[in-house]
Amino acid sequence: MIIRLIFLFLLFYLVFLVVRFFQSLGHNVSRSNPRPDSLPKKTMVKDEVCNTYIPEDEALKENRDGRVYYFCSEDCRKKFLDSGGKIN
Ligand SMILES: [Zn+2]
Repeated sequence: MIIRLIFLFLLFYLVFLVVRFFQSLGHNVSRSNPRPDSLPKKTMVKDEVCNTYIPEDEALKENRDGRVYYFCSEDCRKKFLDSGGKIN
């Protein structure tokens, strides 16, 4: 009889743990996921060397043939200049 009671108790405890686990999951998701439209909008420009997007005010710029190219880092800018301004 006692064993059955302990078993039932464990079963309820397990359910309690599972419920709490899912509650904490939902809590974390809502906390780490702020509204996307509340983020400040920045103009994103493409680094054509490594194909990543960076905010325009953080990008390195290089003028070539009347066109402005953007780079995420000095490394990418150097690669671009080393290749003579040709991409791909
Ligand atoms: Zn880059």
